Amino acid sequence: METLTNCPICQSSELASFLECKDYTVSKDKFTIVKCSSCGFRFTNPRPTEAECGKYYQSEDYVSHSDTKKGLINSLYHYARKFTLKKKLKLVSSISKKTQGNLLDLGCGTGAFLNICKENGWKVQGIEPSADAREVAKKNYGIDLNDVNNWDKVSDNSLDVVTAWHVLEHVYKLEEEVAHVKSKLVKDGTFVVALPNCNSADAQFYKEYWAAYDVPRHIWHFTPEHVKLFFEKQGFKLETVLPMPWDAYYICMLSEKYKAGNVNYGRAMVHGWASNNSAKKNGNTWSSQIYILKPVK
Ligand SMILES: [Zn+2]
Repeated sequence: METLTNCPICQSSELASFLECKDYTVSKDKFTIVKCSSCGFRFTNPRPTEAECGKYYQSEDYVSHSDTKKGLINSLYHYARKFTLKKKLKLVSSISKKTQGNLLDLGCGTGAFLNICKENGWKVQGIEPSADAREVAKKNYGIDLNDVNNWDKVSDNSLDVVTAWHVLEHVYKLEEEVAHVKSKLVKDGTFVVALPNCNSADAQFYKEYWAAYDVPRHIWHFTPEHVKLFFEKQGFKLETVLPMPWDAYYICMLSEKYKAGNVNYGRAMVHGWASNNSAKKNGNTWSSQIYILKPVK
């Protein structure tokens, strides 16, 4: 384990304990989330070192690596994924104003999104730290993915779009990875970042049971305000924020499971709906959001 002594966004050393959460997926261990007293940024602290974090992904239930279809929630995940993959492809085309180009998916897991992009004429590359996930991508789609230390295989100023769907909350060397993205994007390129929002109504309702805290795999817990602060420091301009309304239902189902031991689907639907309804009224408070960022070059 390692402990950060300073806030990675504002460098303040005043960190207060915010919430104690359990790892429901793999270890069942408890982890603390701290909140910076100065800027309010929240992160898992202490946390497993990068070298030891791999063991917290070793589970059949870790759906983005194993592609498991076991259980109703995972089946729903796969069903929703088919639908959301098309929506993501459409979004990438509309924001980049291109129907094809060079796209890199960062933390692409088993490669499902890259595959749909490839089928629709995009030249695709992917970066994925899990060797198991890379193997599944090769087997299922014939796509060769790179490990995280292979950024040098990607040319500078060559990418029209980089996507990171629910990835950056897992990344240890966050500034380094974002700097790579910036140098590889073309001048008018786009960085599409999806992140959970720990200021959403469902996060505030479920508290330590909120499934998108997902400790210790999620080491950073972003709010829209901190996304803006962080990316401006890294040389990006935040252009737009878009909702991911389906995520609220998925997160509420998992949160119900963590809270009560089994899923009350009706209650999960009600809280998912309530969270989305509150986001509609209050602006950027969706359970998960997509941030459209442009590099300042
Ligand atoms: Zn801070």
